[in-house]
Amino acid sequence: MSKTTSIILILCIILVFTYISPLHAYACPLCFDASDDPIGLGAITGAQAFYSTLSSNRIETIKQDIINRYGHYSPQQWGENVDGVRTRIDTEDKIIALTFDACGQGGFSNGYDKQLIDFLIKHQIPATLFISGRWIGSNPSIFKELAQNPIFDIANHGYRHSPLSINGRSAYGIKGTTSIGEVVDEILLNEQKILNITGKKPRYFRSGTAFYDEVAVKIANELGYEVINYNVLGDAGATFTREQVRQATLSATSGSIILFHMNRPETDIADGIIDAIPELIKRGFRFVKLEEYHQKLAPRKPTVDNYFLHTVARGDSLWAIATRFGTTVQKIQNMNQLKTTVLNVGQRLQVPVKDPSLLVAPVEVNHRIARGDSLWRISNMYGANLNSIYQRNNLNQHSILQVGQRVIVPIEAIHVVSSGDTLWHISIRYGVSLQQIYQRNNLSPQSIIRIGQRIIVPPNPISW
Ligand SMILES: [Zn+2]
Repeated sequence: MSKTTSIILILCIILVFTYISPLHAYACPLCFDASDDPIGLGAITGAQAFYSTLSSNRIETIKQDIINRYGHYSPQQWGENVDGVRTRIDTEDKIIALTFDACGQGGFSNGYDKQLIDFLIKHQIPATLFISGRWIGSNPSIFKELAQNPIFDIANHGYRHSPLSINGRSAYGIKGTTSIGEVVDEILLNEQKILNITGKKPRYFRSGTAFYDEVAVKIANELGYEVINYNVLGDAGATFTREQVRQATLSATSGSIILFHMNRPETDIADGIIDAIPELIKRGFRFVKLEEYHQKLAPRKPTVDNYFLHTVARGDSLWAIATRFGTTVQKIQNMNQLKTTVLNVGQRLQVPVKDPSLLVAPVEVNHRIARGDSLWRISNMYGANLNSIYQRNNLNQHSILQVGQRVIVPIEAIHVVSSGDTLWHISIRYGVSLQQIYQRNNLSPQSIIRIGQRIIVPPNPISW
């Protein structure tokens, strides 16, 4: 066989394999099916598909559309419990949804808890598995096996396992996505990876660290996902002992969604779960995949309160403040433990905010201390400054925290400069001084800001 013939033969083989491979569904423009197009971009994508492969092209088209529609949003919330996140199943049925994360964040995080998964399979206990693109990369054959087992439903845990932020916030020291484009990539690149192996688009998403801003959650919804967190923390980021895992698991009630990890075989997570599950079955519970109760997925009953810190000005009354922020006098009184309606100029009031779109900045989070919490962990968790937490709560590094105690976490706002913004406008909008903005961002009155630049707005506003 001549050299040329061999090359032609090899090219033919590559062509045939490309055509019959799972990639075909993405690569072939003729196969584009509008029914699996999450945001109705079929026509545009179909036309462009002749110029590049459909997979990357389709993601780029979707990305551009999402950027066009969400580019002007400025998120007001950051955390696990933001608007749009589902954390439980709203039902009286005695069911529990077990969810397991496979994070793949490097090191220990790429492991596979075979003891745990074998137990679930042996006893036919259904579960939803949130898998990151990184974990799939490290465990391709195990992933394929899990995806083929009907007791498991595969869900999307992000391509890089990043906190889901449109402006680069961090959680637990892990840097989040920094733009809308990165949010779309984080979701869709992993979807593409999962689809290529399983042929099935996941329906549920949980970010690395389970942190989001509320705009990123909306974007996930646009891409066809429900965003799922939890109302029972099963292993606290794989830090619990066997007994703690058992107790946490047994604390589940009707409709609980429990978060565990399936990537940490070196821990006692499996033992704790294996201790608890027979007891839950004895109590009459059964276990479900999320899709079985898809219509009943619901947000957590609020345990974290968002509020404005309002400084009372001359002429302010509780009634006027309540009206302005869409709340009631009673609620402001309860939150501040006020026994009277008399206010003093300069007094600081926490004003609960029902409609988060009214918030101009997240400002503060009211965090309830859980077992094992430390202020360092909390500051790391919210990306907040440890010293600001000490100051705001009159605490120091020697303070001892009680489970159930509330700690106020001041959070910096991140403002993305849009057309017409000046630093003066931004300082007014967030109620901080220009000086504070200069200092925090290493800027001066001579500095020129450009559209898209991120300005950090310090917490503890001087007035609202
Ligand atoms: Zn994870």
